[in-house]
Formats: sequence, C-alpha cells, structure tokens
Amino acid sequence: MGPFETKEACEQWKEEYNLPFDVIPDEEGTLFKELSNGWVPYSILVGPDSKVILWESEFNEAGFSAAIEKLYEEPEAPGEVAPAVKAAPRPGGRPWGANIVILGGGAGGLVAAYHLRQKLPKGHRITILDRQPNHLFQSSLLWRAVGLRRADQIQRPLSDLVRKGVEFINEPAVQIDTARKQVRTPSQEIDYDFLIIALGAELAPQEVLGFDEMALNLYDLEGAARIHAALNDFSGGKVGVLVTDMPFKCPAAPYEAALLVDSFLRKKGVRERSEVHIYSPEHQPMPIAGPVMGEAITKVLSKRGIQYHPLFTFEWISPGDQMITPSSGEPQHVDLLLAVPPHRAPEVVKYSGLIGSSGWIHVDPHTLATEHEGVYAIGDVNNIRLANGKNLPMAGVFAHAEAKVAAERIVTEIEGGKPEASYNGKGYCWLELGGGKAGFASGNFYADPEPAVRMYPPTRPAHWGKIAFEKWWLRHWF
Ligand SMILES: Cc1cc2nc3c(=O)[nH]c(=O)nc-3n(C[C@H](O)[C@H](O)[C@H](O)COP(=O)(O)OP(=O)(O)OC[C@H]3O[C@@H](n4cnc5c(N)ncnc54)[C@H](O)[C@@H]3O)c2cc1C
Repeated sequence: MGPFETKEACEQWKEEYNLPFDVIPDEEGTLFKELSNGWVPYSILVGPDSKVILWESEFNEAGFSAAIEKLYEEPEAPGEVAPAVKAAPRPGGRPWGANIVILGGGAGGLVAAYHLRQKLPKGHRITILDRQPNHLFQSSLLWRAVGLRRADQIQRPLSDLVRKGVEFINEPAVQIDTARKQVRTPSQEIDYDFLIIALGAELAPQEVLGFDEMALNLYDLEGAARIHAALNDFSGGKVGVLVTDMPFKCPAAPYEAALLVDSFLRKKGVRERSEVHIYSPEHQPMPIAGPVMGEAITKVLSKRGIQYHPLFTFEWISPGDQMITPSSGEPQHVDLLLAVPPHRAPEVVKYSGLIGSSGWIHVDPHTLATEHEGVYAIGDVNNIRLANGKNLPMAGVFAHAEAKVAAERIVTEIEGGKPEASYNGKGYCWLELGGGKAGFASGNFYADPEPAVRMYPPTRPAHWGKIAFEKWWLRHWF
C-alpha cells in the first residue's frame, strides 16, 4: 500500500477485502517513487513473477478484483481462434475498394483521414464518424476562457471534409464489433476493413458531486465561455484551478490556465485584490517531463505570485460554502473555481471489450495496432507505457504523430506491402504564459530510461509560433 498508509490500515484492508495474500505498507515510499506516475493514489498489482499486472490511477474495486482473479486462473491451453468475419462491402461501396472507418474527428481522426485520402485512390472509402458536427481545436479553449477567441474561431465543420473526399457521419458510435468488423450507430451498421479508433478521452464532471453548481469546466467549449463571463464579472478574491483526477489531457493546460488568468486579472486591474491558486494531485508540474521542467514551471508560477499546491488529492467540493477538500490536508475556500474534470475512456470502447487493465486501449507503441485485426487506436484513447514505466501523456501532438503512422501502415497494407511506418515517441509543446509570451519544450518520450525533454526559455516568438500553429491547423486539414 501507498506511502501514506499505516500497518493497521493494511491489516484492515486485507480483512475487508478478504485477501489471501499479505498487504504491507510502502513505508519509505520506495515503490511509489519507482513506479508512480507522479500522482497519488495509484494502484499497482505485481504478480508472483514480478510482472506488473494492474496499473491504475485510482482504486477501482472491480478492476482490482478481476486482476486478482486472473492472477489465480490456470493458464489456458492454446486453442482454435475463430477467424474474423470479413466484412461485406458497404452498400454503395466499391467491391475493389477498402472501407476505412475513423471513429472521432478530433486531432487524431482528422490527421489520419487527411493522410489516407492523400495517399489512397478514390476507390477506397474513408469515413469519419463523430457525434459532434464540428472539429474543435482544444488547445485554444484556454484563449477562449480569457476572451482571446470566440467559439467560431476555434472550430470547423467536419462536413467540410466531404470536399476532400472524406465522408462524414454525424452520429455517435454505440458499439464496435471487432469480430464482425462492424461499428454500430443508433441508425446504422457500418462495415470496415480497417478501423482507426480516435475517440479521445471522455470528460466525466458528473462523477464529482456538485461540479455543475460550483466548478467551471476548463476543458469544454461551454465551460470556457462561462469562465470568460465569470472573469469579466470578477472584482477580486480567490481563483482556484483544480485538477480533480489523473490522468488528464495536456499536462501543461492547468498551469497555462493559471498563468493566463493571472495575466487577465492584471490587465483588468484587479490582480492585487486577488489570489490565484493551482491544486493538483501531481508532485510537480508535468512530472513526465522530469524534475528540471517541473522546477522551471514552478519558478514561473511563483514569479507571478501563483500559489501552487502539489499532491492535492481532491476528494469533494461543497458548493454551499465554496470549499474544495483533499483526501489529506486542509479544505480550501475559493471564490471562483476552474476545474479539469475526471477523464474516462469513452463508453463505447468500454462496452465493446477493447479496454486493457489501464482503463484505456492498449496498443503497440510503435505501430499503434491493437490486438484486433485491422484495428488501430490513436491519441488520448490509447495507453502507451514508456521505458520508465509511466504513460505517454494525452496530448494532441501525440495524436497527430500516431495518426500519421496508423494511416501510413494502412496504406501500405492496402497496397500489399509490408508496413514499416513506426512512431518514434518524439513530441513538443508550447507552454502559454500570458502577456504574449510562451515557453517551448520538445523531446523524445520513448527515450530509455527516461524521456529526454528540453525546455526553451519563454519568448515572444514562441507565443507567435503557437498562434501560427493554431491558424495552420484550422486551415490545413479542411
Ligand atoms: C484546454 C486544453 C488545452 C490543450 N492544449 C494542448 C496543447 O497545447 N498541445 C497538445 O498537444 N495538446 C493539447 N491538448 C490536448 C489535445 O487537445 C488532445 O490530447 C487531443 O485533442 C487528443 O486527440 P484525439 O484525437 O485523441 O481526441 P479528441 O481530439 O478529443 O477527439 C475525439 C473525438 O471523438 C468524438 N467522440 C467521442 N466519443 C464519441 C462517440 N461515442 N461517437 C462518435 N464520436 C465520439 C469527440 O466528439 C471528438 O471529436 C489540450 C486539451 C485541452 C482540453
């Protein structure tokens, strides 16, 4: 058990769950430091052969029980595996063309569709399915929250892709049947020869009681608009940026949000009457990028008078008295709460049996292939374990690079070649600091034993680079 547990708690836990093995505390935090992803709580189950068999950012009783049962199962004798049923061509589809279906028109889905269409003749059908009518460039939600963008400036209709030869179905995917190679929506069944799952991470604010009454969602369009309105009305007090759970997409975003709020309040002339706080379960900002990066961001926060509360393991909020409470430590009062809601794998992948023990889809880190024939999973919905045992963060830059690899491999397969495209783990990001400046970091996340990430000092050109990237993104794919 974790570094904060006592021997007595371990005994109680063993009794409560009727466990047939000993439960011992990790008193020195040795395992925590070695294996944790930089946040607590963290459940890791190690089997008798010393292999990690379950890895979760929280204690999920059902997942834990299933993993323990599996641990005691007899290994299965190898048997006959039923061959996958080949899908018939879709109605109206051409018998010689492949049906490639992409679930999700976010960062990964968009890039995959573009590259497939560029490389495949028209006889091959490429379809994006998304429950939303528009593609949203999520990075710009932070600018939306401080009034630097309107909603229409950061979205594009996915139906515009039809001009590029990509079909668009504006419906939710409700089932993925990998045996029959079929995706179901409320109104139709769609056969595929190749499937790219790019459904992202689902936001689950409903899992936090009182979220709607007290918190403004930093991670969606409506929440960003509400934050802007609230900041406009704000005349001083305590603003809190809260990370409710791990993992969350874009490890830099809550820190950028706090810095942008700081700038907004300075411009408005109310910064001296205000406090800006950031509460996160991480032990440092962006733990995956290493201690140097963490220290650099902590210094920037402190220079701007932003109070950082690491290891704040959020438990509940009380809208009545505007308090946020951690599992250990003092409850905090805030006047205005901007929050990152819990993230979960989309329901459709959960109920289609595609989820691994991490709670996300497991893929080969280089090919992005799942264990199902012709099925790739890219972006936030997948789980990639790095050399240091931590997970590749959820970020658009990775969804982008992975999409190119999955598309390239599908093209080669269709052409009858041997797919060789491989993802190398390289990524970069801008860190928006407000006041027209941004930092920039880039590196190789697949480096062994630790990701090798370098941060460049904040400059104005880096901020312009971030704006230029936004403009390019919203034009290039449509
Ligand atoms: C505030 C904020 C700032 C960010 N800043 C950065 C940044 O600076 N740099 C960076 O690299 N990343 C950033 N990110 C993260 C980045 O946006 C995501 O990691 C990226 O969009 C993931 O791409 P994806 O294709 O996996 O999923 P998404 O882009 O989330 O797309 C998933 C799509 O699937 C659709 N969908 C979901 N479920 C269903 C269903 N059942 N049926 C049909 N459609 C469905 C959704 O509508 C959505 O369009 C930021 C994110 C946020 C919220």
